[in-house]
Amino acid sequence: MEEREIFSLGLGLRAPWEVVSQHLDAEKKPHELHLGLAADRGAQFPCPTCGKACHAHDFKELRWRHLNFFQHHCLLTAKVPRIRCPEHGVKRIVVPWARQGSHFTLLFEQVVMSLVREMPVAAAARLVEERDTRLWRIIQHYVGKALASLDLSELVAFGFDETAAKRGHKYVTVFVDMQRRTQPVVFATPGKGKQTVKDFKAWLEAHGGQAENVMEVVCDMSPAFLAAVGEEFEQAHVTVDWFHVVQLFNTAVDTVRKLEYQQITLPKATRWAVLKSTGLTAKQQQALQELKEGDFLTTIAWRIKEKLRWVRQAHTLRAARWRMTHFLHHARAMLTTAPALDAIRKALNTLQAHIPLILQRWASTYSNARMEGLNSLFQAARARARGYRNTQTFSTMIYLIAAPIQFIFNST
Ligand SMILES: [Zn+2]
Repeated sequence: MEEREIFSLGLGLRAPWEVVSQHLDAEKKPHELHLGLAADRGAQFPCPTCGKACHAHDFKELRWRHLNFFQHHCLLTAKVPRIRCPEHGVKRIVVPWARQGSHFTLLFEQVVMSLVREMPVAAAARLVEERDTRLWRIIQHYVGKALASLDLSELVAFGFDETAAKRGHKYVTVFVDMQRRTQPVVFATPGKGKQTVKDFKAWLEAHGGQAENVMEVVCDMSPAFLAAVGEEFEQAHVTVDWFHVVQLFNTAVDTVRKLEYQQITLPKATRWAVLKSTGLTAKQQQALQELKEGDFLTTIAWRIKEKLRWVRQAHTLRAARWRMTHFLHHARAMLTTAPALDAIRKALNTLQAHIPLILQRWASTYSNARMEGLNSLFQAARARARGYRNTQTFSTMIYLIAAPIQFIFNST
């Protein structure tokens, strides 16, 4: 058997294609194995549109990166014909080893897709010695293709939340199907606010879903979100997620702490002591003890936040409503007139304004675990897109990790 035949076999080439030349370029670092492919003279090729066997019209030399040959990069070169189909005219054929327009073979892309499933794209790029921007193009292609066949015809409840692609700017809003236990993400779009809800409705309807089938929407207390949901999903019940209520008060407690810290010295480790609910370190426990014993505004804010848990633990809607009323009353009685406590005052007002939507969770079928899980998803996606992160790569990574499109890894 000749070397060329071995390479043809190794590449899985079928007639009319075969390896016609090979050459190891040792000048390049890493070394490059170049394999020249060609089709039989006079061969016919299927029209990419209708599949009819047609004669070549002209040729163009194209190149693809293939899987490494031992430690050497391997590059395939072939003169790829355009055929003249009687029905579809002159068209470039699709070669069996690569998709149209790609600079990589299907096998190489498959390896890339399995790598980025396990590690940050930047790390995968280093491993295969390619620019990460080129890897991102591969990922975006496969994710986009998989999303095109996403079926949302069964969607009846969704939740959504926004997050920053980078700290402090460039938001992405992510929508989850509340009925999916795993891989719940069905839409991720740049931006935040009203427009994203409109975009989701269009996306839903483009994927077999119907806005009027949506019975429940879970979101936070942002006025823009709530207004948009009211307009686009009129008949849906809105539930404000408990997770967002906690978030609201955590932010308020943190604001109080910062303001108070400008005036006086607070116990060391106060910051996390008042934010964490479990797993406090010894230092944080001590801080909490000192806070409880002292006369701090931060302590008041913390106590109010902790009292929220009592509302959350109500077993029935009736009990929750009763506890909510008492919580608000009690919390306001705890407040002093100190301006540093304004953040808590504001949070209480926001809470009060949304009571019906918050109490809806006691009537809802869906737990808020899913919305809480989004936070760790965002963190994972941020890490995996590190080095080249914008709203687009970030969204792609969110889909890759958590959209119901896992089958893309099994197909070539
Ligand atoms: Zn044709």
